[in-house]
Parts: sequence; structure tokens; C-alpha cells
Amino acid sequence: MWPLDAATTGGDIPVIVANDLALNAAERRRRAGLDAPDLPRVESASVRTQPRKAPVPVPTPLLSALDAERFDFGGPLRHTSPLPRRHVEDKELTRFLKSHVDRTLSDNVEPPPCPHCGSDNTRLASTKRARSPLPQFQCRVCARLYSRATRTPLAKMLRKDILYAFLPLLSQHRPLAHAAEELGTTPEIVKAWVRRFREWLLLLDPTGNFERRVRLGLKAPRPLMDCPHCLKQVEARPHGFKRTRKRTAAELKRRLFRCTGCNGFFDISIDAL
Ligand SMILES: [Zn+2]
Ligand SMILES: [Zn+2]
Repeated sequence: MWPLDAATTGGDIPVIVANDLALNAAERRRRAGLDAPDLPRVESASVRTQPRKAPVPVPTPLLSALDAERFDFGGPLRHTSPLPRRHVEDKELTRFLKSHVDRTLSDNVEPPPCPHCGSDNTRLASTKRARSPLPQFQCRVCARLYSRATRTPLAKMLRKDILYAFLPLLSQHRPLAHAAEELGTTPEIVKAWVRRFREWLLLLDPTGNFERRVRLGLKAPRPLMDCPHCLKQVEARPHGFKRTRKRTAAELKRRLFRCTGCNGFFDISIDAL
């Protein structure tokens, strides 16, 4: 043993020699009647260690700007639209998240990698208890305590009762107020949850495929389109749905856009969007 702690860096560390294996080997040879060198007894020595690498913290993933691909412009974007809102749940996203939520809240005592530094050198610190309902683990590299919920949206979540009702809403392009009313909470809380779940999804699936399926309460950016008037690729401002004196928006099923370059209107069949 030598005095290593979190502050020790590499260098020559003084040690006391309690058991010199070379002397033992020489003694064994002598007992067996073989030649053995007369080695000096060493009381103290020094050990050279590699410099300790400070644990590298796992960064929180950065949410990128929303792109228009995420949203369905064939459906109404506003509350007041003449077409009925289609709230489509992406069941694959719900299933993916539910399996991770179940795993996170399980009382499995197998230590996961450290959520702070990513190390696998971890140990079980305590099993499920009344005060902390999840097993606690400790990282041997950065020495921090954590549970499976640490650095997930489930850490210190006050409304676990609405968690499972929230998951199917995440993929639906609805206003925050809608979801808040349905869940019996406030739009601010729903907004914070959406953000934390998007960050968690990027950790769970770094390709971002699952994160791109989140739509709840997010504002759709203007899609890039070819304007038939100025013949340029422009940001097109969604402008409701086309209707005529004789035919309603629901019959025509064409979305109106306004070119941000020339201000001209054009419309596209919602099936093509
Ligand atoms: Zn760690
Ligand atoms: Zn134009």
C-alpha cells in the first residue's frame, strides 16, 4: 500500500517494503539446496506511478436547432386551423423511452457506468432503501455517488405520477398548454420536461434519430421550398390552407405557403408534404 489519494499525481512515492518477493525467492532456493544470491534487505523504497488522469466529465448533449423535416406541414400547425388537428403518436419513440424509464427505475443492483465521467470502474454503494428508492452506486474514478436516474430527466422528478402519461405526448405536435391540461400540470413544467427528455434521448441514441421524433410544444421552423414565382429556393411561411368560394379547406387539402423572398403565395397538396 502507498499513500495514493485523489490528489496524488505521478512521481516517486515513498513506500515501506513489508514483503520483498526477491528475498523470499532466494530463501526458497537456498532451502532447496540451490545457489541463491545474497540480496540486501531493503526497508524503504519508492514507487513510480503514472500521472493520474483527471476524469473527463461527460458533457450534456447540445440540442441542435430544429429543422423543418421534423414537422408534418400537411397537418394544421395552429389551434385555429379549419382542418382537424391530427395528433399522431410515434409509438416507437414511446416504446423506446418506456423501456429506458423502466430500466432506470428498476432496483437492479448491477452498477451502470458512471454518468459523470463514463467510467466502468464502479461499485454498488447501497441497495433500495426507504429514503432513496433506487440503488445507489459509486464511481471509483471520480468518487461520486449516483443512481440510475442521475443525469436523466427522472432525477429528482417531482411528478412521477404523470410520467407514463407524458411519454406518448412527446412525439405529438401539440401546444404545451394542451399537454399541461391533459396531465394536470403547468406548461412551464411540460416545456422543461421536453428539453430534458430531448437531451436524454441524445445520450441514449447519439445518432439523434429518436430525438428528431420529439415534437411536443416545439415551434416548426419555415421549410425550404422552391418558389414557383421567383424560382428560388426560399424559406416558405406556412399560411394556413387554401380554400375557394366553392370548396372548403378540408375538401381541397392544399397548404398555402408564402415566399419570404417575393411574398408570392403558392399551394401544395398536403399529401405531397
Ligand atoms: Zn465517475
Ligand atoms: Zn418567391
